[in-house]
Amino acid sequence: MLELSNKNLEIIDSLIDFKVFDDIEGYRLDRKNGIILVCCADGDQFHDLYYHECSFQSGQRKDKNPRIHPLSHNGGVLAYAENNLINRFPTSYLEYLYEIGGSLELKKMPTIVIEGHGPCGAAHKHAIDFIPQLETQMTVKEVVKQMHPHVDVASHFHVDYNGRNGKEKKTYHFGRERWAEWLRTKAAPFLAFA
Ligand SMILES: [Zn+2]
Repeated sequence: MLELSNKNLEIIDSLIDFKVFDDIEGYRLDRKNGIILVCCADGDQFHDLYYHECSFQSGQRKDKNPRIHPLSHNGGVLAYAENNLINRFPTSYLEYLYEIGGSLELKKMPTIVIEGHGPCGAAHKHAIDFIPQLETQMTVKEVVKQMHPHVDVASHFHVDYNGRNGKEKKTYHFGRERWAEWLRTKAAPFLAFA
């Protein structure tokens, strides 16, 4: 099975140190009516990613059942970017973006979670490096927010450590402002040896 490279593990450690990747406090996001979850279809990771998102809803949902509407394609959020390397047809990203709006209308869930993950087989297959992968996620998040300014749009990132560093799987909050600051001040050594 695909594993995180040592370099990507170092990047993740740096992102955690710099609070770009941070623990998720479920109450910070309105999940009362559930969430629309934009994520990768990866069948080795979906169960864990879904479980985490369910657990973040506990305490907010009156009927106790999680309410999650997944929109999952190969490569997940990467397939929503203009000019991406994942989709076969150049306009597919538009269909996916508008599918989010359709889901908002159908399900009346006022919260969208954009969730990337690593290691991602689709990103690996198309030789998309980790930092561009993360930057693409942030770009897509901003596009989705512009399309739907009246709903909450959060950004999460799921990591499968597969026992590396003594860790297994974890979902982080992925913060936009900290990411921009990290790119400006911390990314250079990782990009220099790309
Ligand atoms: Zn994936």
